Amino acid sequence: MRKDRESKQTLRKQTAIQMRPKAQAERKVQANRPKAQAKAKFAQNVWKGILQLLFPLRCPVCDRIVVPAGEKICLECMGKPRLLTPPWCMKCGKKLAQEGEFCADCRSKKHAFDRGRALYAYDSVAGSIYRFKYGGRREYADFFGEQMAEYLGNFIRSTQPDALIPIPLHRKRMAVRGYNQAQLLAEAVGSRLGVPVCPDFLVRVKNTAPLKYENPKERQNNLKKAFNIARNDVKLKRVVVVDDIYTTGSTMDEAAGTLKEAGVKEVCFIALASGTNV
Ligand SMILES: [Zn+2]
Ligand SMILES: [Zn+2]
Repeated sequence: MRKDRESKQTLRKQTAIQMRPKAQAERKVQANRPKAQAKAKFAQNVWKGILQLLFPLRCPVCDRIVVPAGEKICLECMGKPRLLTPPWCMKCGKKLAQEGEFCADCRSKKHAFDRGRALYAYDSVAGSIYRFKYGGRREYADFFGEQMAEYLGNFIRSTQPDALIPIPLHRKRMAVRGYNQAQLLAEAVGSRLGVPVCPDFLVRVKNTAPLKYENPKERQNNLKKAFNIARNDVKLKRVVVVDDIYTTGSTMDEAAGTLKEAGVKEVCFIALASGTNV
């Protein structure tokens, strides 16, 4: 019995001795971690610097190369995109000319989405958004996403979303453009707010003509059944749909309708800009 106890004690001691070097090694790794992190950060900054020299960032407002390197927008351009301020429509977030609850559009039409907000007045960023969509200026997403996270962050958090869902492009248009601007915005916002982005949940099955060639009625008809759900292995209760421009809400309604048919309970949205003269 006594022997047995002794052997147990010896075993415990041995184990303690065996574990010591490992614990020391772990402490060493932990002590080295800040150094390793600093090294990685330095390498990252050097790489970033090289990239900035090779591909200098352009200002989303004036499209000139931003000075000093590393900034996302020129100092003098900072105030040019006009943030939408209250009063705004409680449903679609459009700027209201005077105090009120809903805009004329939302008073007369029942939307499929629950509510949404936009960041800028469209006329103040029209040229920017055009270059962002059609001029290959995908880098603007960094500045726009940062601003959306900052000014629409509280709204997004208040909806408690399971995911951000960018309005998808049809695969043919995606092949030509090479990127989906709504997805870039969603990723820039999602990474800042810690909300996952689901870019492959909703797909566009109809390749609709660009907005400028249609009147609102034609657009609404053309958008019918424009979207489909590509994944049924993901269960989402509340989502925030992300788009670049909100105008009549027909795209957003069609997307929200499809999402709700698939079982999503609440569909809110954010847009980079909204306005009536789009
Ligand atoms: Zn500028
Ligand atoms: Zn409205």
